[in-house]
Amino acid sequence: MPPPRPAELGAPEKPRHERIDPSQPEPQRSQPAQELGAAPREPGAAGCIDALMAVQGNRIRPAPPEQLPRDQACRIEEAVVVEALAVRSSSGTVALVPPPTLSCAMAKAVSGWLDIAVQPLARGQFEKDLLALQVGGGQECRRRNRASAGPFSEHATGEALDIFAFRLEPGAGSSEIRVAKPDGLPQERFLAATRQSACGAFMTALGPGSDAAHADHLHVDIQERRSPASRFCQ
Ligand SMILES: [Zn+2]
Repeated sequence: MPPPRPAELGAPEKPRHERIDPSQPEPQRSQPAQELGAAPREPGAAGCIDALMAVQGNRIRPAPPEQLPRDQACRIEEAVVVEALAVRSSSGTVALVPPPTLSCAMAKAVSGWLDIAVQPLARGQFEKDLLALQVGGGQECRRRNRASAGPFSEHATGEALDIFAFRLEPGAGSSEIRVAKPDGLPQERFLAATRQSACGAFMTALGPGSDAAHADHLHVDIQERRSPASRFCQ
């Protein structure tokens, strides 16, 4: 038996993390990240791009820095260009047309929403897979409602997406559902259910009927409201 450890030496030093694996969640630690030599990070942001790129079917790439706005007010956290996102369906992916530049956190929110809500709703309503979203305003350095003053838009930081139409696989019935002008009751039902599900998946969901600026598209964003639990859906 070794002699007991003298009390004045204190507890044995715990091993430090040798490396930070970006694909793993940040380990729980009591010391600040700096003490371990790691760069400070946003909570939960660790390895977001790597994790999304690793999903089979996702077509995502880091946005080229030279294409991003220099203005600090329009800085995008982990900017990615999103061409397609994986869903559980026969087609396997949903394309975003044209590919928007989003923050990685927003790309992740869109990815989860398509897989869990929109694709199953399309199958349920039309017995067809969702193939693509026609989108706009992924990233644009501007103020809200294009005003010359006031707060910057959620689009400025890549935290928002505007959806103009949902494209389904070809076949009987309509294969494009336009947010501005659904062709019939099934399309209206699909849009209503999609919009309701967006209210849970994002912080804000605004569409036709909420105001003139959203008459032809569904706006979703992950900008936090006054409290993390408060959402804004109209
Ligand atoms: Zn918008």
